[in-house]
Amino acid sequence: METLYFVIPCYNEEEMLPITAKALIKKRDELVEGGRITPESKIMFVDDGSKDKTWELIEKLNEAAPAVFTGVKLSRNRGHQNALLAGMMTAVKHADIIVSMDADLQDDINAVDGFLDKREEGCDIVYGVRSSREKDTAFKRGTAQGYYKLLAKMGVEITYNHADYRLMSRRAVEALAEFTEVNLFLRGLVPMVGFKSDTVEYVRSERQAGESKYPLKKMISFAVEGITSLSIKPIRFITALGFTVFMISLLMLIYFLVIHFMGKTVHGWTTTVVSVWALGGLQLLAIGVIGEYIGKIYLETKHRPTFIIERDLEEEDN
Ligand code: UDP
Ligand code: MG
Repeated sequence: METLYFVIPCYNEEEMLPITAKALIKKRDELVEGGRITPESKIMFVDDGSKDKTWELIEKLNEAAPAVFTGVKLSRNRGHQNALLAGMMTAVKHADIIVSMDADLQDDINAVDGFLDKREEGCDIVYGVRSSREKDTAFKRGTAQGYYKLLAKMGVEITYNHADYRLMSRRAVEALAEFTEVNLFLRGLVPMVGFKSDTVEYVRSERQAGESKYPLKKMISFAVEGITSLSIKPIRFITALGFTVFMISLLMLIYFLVIHFMGKTVHGWTTTVVSVWALGGLQLLAIGVIGEYIGKIYLETKHRPTFIIERDLEEEDN
């Protein structure tokens, strides 16, 4: 039997936390009683610098049942991915296996039984995969699906319809810790870890309380992060585009020279202006893409910590 830690990043989740805690403790007890995980198994909440009562709630849960609930507090808000990593790296000190999930119970916790089945078959990583997205808004569903396809085109290895609901063994998490990058897009990184892995399907439901912590702006920056932190295809695309445009302009040059020597008058203020604008736009675009990557190199070379833990209730309990 192995010790399981649930790791749940929470940002302003005071409405959701009591509901989530209740559902998870039930699941944990059921798994312990069924002899599937050890009684040392715990639920770890990571407070990602929440501005509401989230941390107070986590402390209360820990006080009432230190054997079940534990918590980590980040020194400030660092975003879902960093909070998740912080939790996993803290939990791995005590756990044999880690299940990461969101605080809003959109991911069906009963899929954990399936995760454990796969674990018993020798998997180090088990991905939770949404079998349907009916409960998501049409907009979210459409953009997400298009995005997964785009990622695949960019050469990013990713499990289709998998968010960050997954089981990882201790050795998989320790291998993930070897990736020192600060531009984090976990669902693209985890497949790079390797080991035997499999998927388990589940039906995704609605957020039960509170609202999405991923407004459109965050969603877009997360999407850009996914591509630019894992793929250099956009740079190659720009290079190819630049080359093509250059070839076209050579052809046009020949064409205009021919017309000129045939004595036909210069007509083409429009052509000039249009090409100036087209080239200017193209160059700006290219510079922007290059800048994006240079920015990433800048951040990587700094080797800044991806998270700073302010409090670790597990350490304080011991
Ligand atoms: N989250 C976080 N830090 C943030 C934003 C979100 O830890 O800065 C957590 C949030 O509390 C939740 C998970 O990340 O547990 C996913 O967020 P949410 O459910 O709002 O995203 P959605 O399901 O709408 O994509
Ligand atoms: Mg959600």
